[in-house]
Amino acid sequence: MDRLNEILFQYIMQNETFDFDDYSGIYKLSDIILNSKVPNFTDKVKNRFGISKSFQLSYEFFNCLDESYGRYFLDRVNSDDLILKYVKVNKETAYSYPDEDGNKKIYLPYSNDICDCFALTHEMFHDMNLQVNNLSITRSLFTEYISMYGEMLLEEFIKNNYDIKCSFCSRYTFNGSYLKALKVDIQLKLVKCFIENGFIDYFKLDEIINNYNPFYRNYLVKYINEIISSEDLSIGYEGRYLIGILLSCYSKDLVLNKKYDIDTFLGINEDINYMYPDEVYNVLDLDVSDQYTMELTSGSYDKLAKSYSKHMR
Ligand SMILES: [Zn+2]
Repeated sequence: MDRLNEILFQYIMQNETFDFDDYSGIYKLSDIILNSKVPNFTDKVKNRFGISKSFQLSYEFFNCLDESYGRYFLDRVNSDDLILKYVKVNKETAYSYPDEDGNKKIYLPYSNDICDCFALTHEMFHDMNLQVNNLSITRSLFTEYISMYGEMLLEEFIKNNYDIKCSFCSRYTFNGSYLKALKVDIQLKLVKCFIENGFIDYFKLDEIINNYNPFYRNYLVKYINEIISSEDLSIGYEGRYLIGILLSCYSKDLVLNKKYDIDTFLGINEDINYMYPDEVYNVLDLDVSDQYTMELTSGSYDKLAKSYSKHMR
């Protein structure tokens, strides 16, 4: 308990200008997700789907977006920068990252099912917009959006061109995003409680945890232990996935209403490191109400909430 209080104290001190309002934007994002219905998550992926088939489908998808994307894909998978690892049971997460020498790497644990195709596509988008010498805040805010919306486009591509069932992959994503929203929400509640009381004791911690759906309480207790062992909060990091899923659902509706198209999406992917965050929101027809905290107007949050509950599975 002392450790948790120390971490919260450090966190608030590091964010010297810490003002709870700075996080009201991200709080609203987690609120939208937690106030919608709980994702219907069924873990039933059993059909074998070879990794080479996943590579083939992902390549076809990128090539269909644009031939230059197809060439990029081939170039990256044929380089030494792709680290493939077969995992049988515990699903590890894939990620793209720059190594100590500044080389872009993609780490992809795979499990021989179709979700590999989605993970590969997701990481390939990260790899595309990662500029090792130009790590921008805008990219950090929106790279999950690009990768997650990319996965939704992949799902459409597969549905339109093949008789392959893959919609459960997006249920994984929705379920994962719901868990991220819980993580953001509880961290904000811990910070708020600490600011208000100067410390958190077991009684207050219980009170916070008991406010959540009983189904997720164990998960949150484990998560608090993770915070303690990692010695830091991760509000901003997890928050990127909330922006990601909400903007992805919303983009689907923009496309349906002919206010957005693939080329505009590819433009964001290519220019993300040279854009300001509010420019990205502007392209998506969303209004920022506060340039400093990147909070949106209530009308814009409403749009996000509407699309999320419409597309959430
Ligand atoms: Zn990602």
